[in-house]
Order: sequence, then C-alpha cells, then structure tokens
Amino acid sequence: MAALGNMLDTAVSALDPVTVMMSALSKPTLLVDIDDTIAYWTYAMAQRMMVNTQDPPLTSASQNNLGDEWDTLLIGDKVTIISAMVADPQAVFGLRTLREIGFPIVIWSDRGLLLQDYTAAWARVWGLTYDRLQTGDYGWKRTQFDQFGPSNPAILIDDKEDLCAAFKGPGRNAILRRWPWTNTNACPDVRAVDSWVEIVRALPGVVAPDLELQEAT
Ligand SMILES: [Mg+2]
Repeated sequence: MAALGNMLDTAVSALDPVTVMMSALSKPTLLVDIDDTIAYWTYAMAQRMMVNTQDPPLTSASQNNLGDEWDTLLIGDKVTIISAMVADPQAVFGLRTLREIGFPIVIWSDRGLLLQDYTAAWARVWGLTYDRLQTGDYGWKRTQFDQFGPSNPAILIDDKEDLCAAFKGPGRNAILRRWPWTNTNACPDVRAVDSWVEIVRALPGVVAPDLELQEAT
C-alpha cells in the first residue's frame, strides 16, 4: 500500500500550480517497463522451462503457457525466474545517461506487488538507475495512466503493444520495444524500436550520446 500511496501523493502534488509549471518546464517522466524492455524476460522463461531433472517443476498448471499466466505462478517460481534474468547492458547505460541529462525515471512493472523488494534488489545487482521503482499486480500500470498528461507529461517505454496504444494521448507518448514476435499492427501510431540505442535517440531533446562508442571502451 505504501507504493500506491506514493503514486497518489504524486498525483495530488501535480495539482499544485508551481508543480504544474515546473513539470511543464522539465523533461517528461520516463515510465520504463522491466520485463522484455530492460531485461531479457522471455529468455529467462525459456531457460526455466527447459527440461532439467535437477530443477523442481514449476508449481502451477500454467507452466505450458506462462506468457499470460504469470500471476498464477507461486512466488518462489517468480523469484527463480527473475533471478535468472539478465539486464540489457544498453538499457543500463541508457538509463544512467538519460537520468544524468534530466529525465525523471520511473521503473515499473506489473509482475506483482509482492515482488517490489526483490525487484529493487535485482535492479541494484544490475546497476539500474532510476528515481522510483514500483511493482504492482497485473493490470496495475493502466490504473496509473490518468495522472500523466499535459501538466505532467510522460513517455511510456514498454514491449506491450496494447499498453503503448492505450497510453498515447495529450502529454503522453510511447515507444514500443520491439521483438521478433511483436505485433506492431496492434499499435500503428506508436514508434517501434529494436534497441536501447534507438530508444535514447527517439527521445525529445536528446543529443544522441554515442552509446556504441561508450560500450566499446
Ligand atoms: Mg514487459
């Protein structure tokens, strides 16, 4: 509930005229998804589902269809999968760069409210940079959309086509992290990109930092 309280505080403070003016002058908040946006979720899932007699089986019937049934997994299985998840090095560097040049960064996920602390620990291991990290239960992100708009602009960065399409509106933009299985027809008005280099370069007011050069050194 503390996490939701923080979000509500943000919504209330956005009504204050000074805050409204300052937020209009500043860069939009970046709302950044974790799974398959910052981190290789699908690969971690595939790895967990490979037959390995040393591993205990997943504990729910959803083990043959994990994509949309994450919520039916027990917490232990979720932790096992998250702990195997690798962060994209370009995302780590990109987030650090974007925060340094003034973008407020919210890393958020609907992988479950119970996984807030574990997710924060995972983010520390991978050196992720952010102002706020929050997790909520499935569908939680959509309930937060209304607090963003012209007086509190934001850009959603996510691999989910439907979320990107739903987020777009006045003061709200979206960038779709595309994978080979992404259906870009589901959100034709949303810019789709294939890497964090492209994400950084797609953002307004960014003089593109040379990410490839930085990574090579
Ligand atoms: Mg995702």
